[in-house]
Amino acid sequence: MKEIITAQRNFFNTHATKNIHFRRAQLKTLQKALEQNEALLHEAIYNDFKKSEFDNYTTELSLLYRDIKEARKMIFKWARKENVSTGILNFPASSYIIPEPLGVCLVIGAWNYPYQLSFAPIIAAITAGNTVILKPSELPTNTAAAMAKIVKENFDPAFFTVVEGGVEETQELLKQKFDKMFFTGSTKVGKIVYKAAAENLTPVTLELGGKSPAIVTENCNLKISVKRLVWGKFLNSGQTCIAPDYVLVHKSIEKQFLEQTKKEIESQHFAFENDNYLQIINSNNFERLTKMLVKEKIYYGGETNVETRCIQPTIMQNVTLEDAVMQEEIFGPILPVITYETIEEAIALVNSLPKPLSCYLFTKSSSIKKKVLKEISFGGGAINETVMHITNENLPFGGVGHSGMGNYHGEAGFKTFTHYKSVMDKPTWLDPSIRYYPHSPFRLKLMRRFMKF
Ligand code: NAD
Repeated sequence: MKEIITAQRNFFNTHATKNIHFRRAQLKTLQKALEQNEALLHEAIYNDFKKSEFDNYTTELSLLYRDIKEARKMIFKWARKENVSTGILNFPASSYIIPEPLGVCLVIGAWNYPYQLSFAPIIAAITAGNTVILKPSELPTNTAAAMAKIVKENFDPAFFTVVEGGVEETQELLKQKFDKMFFTGSTKVGKIVYKAAAENLTPVTLELGGKSPAIVTENCNLKISVKRLVWGKFLNSGQTCIAPDYVLVHKSIEKQFLEQTKKEIESQHFAFENDNYLQIINSNNFERLTKMLVKEKIYYGGETNVETRCIQPTIMQNVTLEDAVMQEEIFGPILPVITYETIEEAIALVNSLPKPLSCYLFTKSSSIKKKVLKEISFGGGAINETVMHITNENLPFGGVGHSGMGNYHGEAGFKTFTHYKSVMDKPTWLDPSIRYYPHSPFRLKLMRRFMKF
C-alpha cells in the first residue's frame, strides 16, 4: 500500500493532474470504460444480489454518466480562479481564490449501490485534480472484482487504482497518510475512519446512514404519496441509505394508509424471486432483519426465504420506539408504521433520534411544510416524494450529525475534493508607512479610520 501511495504522490507532484484537459480526458476514459463494460458490470451485480439490468442502469450507471457529463461541462467554471474585492486598507492589491486539488485521496465505498457509491466520489476527485485509491466494499465480491478489472485496464495506477479487500485491508489503508478520505458506510465504521484520519489531520467526508423518517399528514394525496413511498422504501429491497426507514402517519388516516400501502406493494409486483426484487446482501444481514419481525405486529408480508435470502416487503403496525425495528437503521424491506396525533408530536419523535440522512414529508399544507423544514434537521430530503432528490446534481448530497459530514454531487463534489487557496497580490509601487514602527497617536488615528470595517 505504501508503494501505491508513494507512486501516486510522485505522480501528483508532477502537477499533471492540475491540467484541466488531463482531467477531462480521464473522465472520458472512465465513461467509455463503463459503457464498454456494461454487460460485465450487470452480470457481476446480478450475481452478487440479483440486481436487475433496469435497476443497474437507473440507480447506478445512469447517475455516473450524468455526473461525468456535468463535470466535463462545468470543470472550466468550477476550477477557475475567482477574483474577489480587496478593500481600501490594502490598496492597490488584488485578491483571488485558486481552487487546488488536495493530493492523494482514499475513497471507501459501501456495498448497497456498489458502482454509484464508489465511482461518484471518484468522478468528483478526478474533476478536482486528485489521484485516487478506491477501496470498494468487499461484500459484493463480483462487483468489487469487476470494478478492479475495469480500472486496471484503463488507468495508470499512479493516478487511479483499486485496492480490494475486507476490514483488514481497509484498516491497513487507514493507517496511511492521505490528503483526503471519503467514506460511505455505517455510522459505526464512520467513527473508526474519523479517528484514523485524525492521526494525520486528514480531511474527511463521511457519508453515513441512520433512520430516515417519512411523515404522512391527514391532508396528503394518499394514493400518490403511498405509491412514491412504497417505491422508495422497497427499491433495492430497502437496502438504500436514503430509503424511508419508518413512517409516521396521522392517526385519522392510519387504516386507509395501511390498506393503500398493501395494495401498492401488490400492484408494484414486489414479490419473491421476480426481477424487481433483490436479495438481502448476505446471511448476517438476512438474520439481523428477520429478528426485527414480530409476528403480532405484522400487518402485511413477513415471509422469508433463507435459501434465496429474500424477505417479503413487510408492513409492521402498532410499532413503538422500544421495538427492535426502531433500535437501529433497518436497511431492509420492513416498514414500521407509527401513528401521531399532532405534528408537534411527530416532530418531537424524529428529534428524539439522531439527525437523519433524509426526511420525507407528504402533505398539502404549506404551514406544516414550513414547520417541518424549520424544526427538523436532516441531511437532505423531499416533499411529496422519496429518494429522487439524489437525482438532482444541483442539490449537495450528504448527512448531518450522526448521518455524516460534508457532501458531494455536482459542484459540491468538486468543492469536497478541493482546497481554496486565498491569495493577496500586491504591487510594490506604493507602500504607505502608516502600519510600520514606530507607532504614534496620529498613525493610530489614521488606522482607526482605515480599519473601520
Ligand atoms: P460498513 O460501514 O459496514 O462498510 C463500509 C466500508 O467500511 C466497507 O468498504 C468495509 O470494508 C469497511 N469496513 C467495515 N468494517 C470496518 C472496520 N471495522 N474497519 C475499517 N473498515 C471497515 O457499511 P455497509 O454495510 O457497506 O453499508 C451500509 C451502511 O452504509 C448503512 O448504514 C447505510 O445507511 C450507509 N450508507 C450511506 C450512504 C450515504 O451516501 N450516506 C450510502 C450507502 C450506504
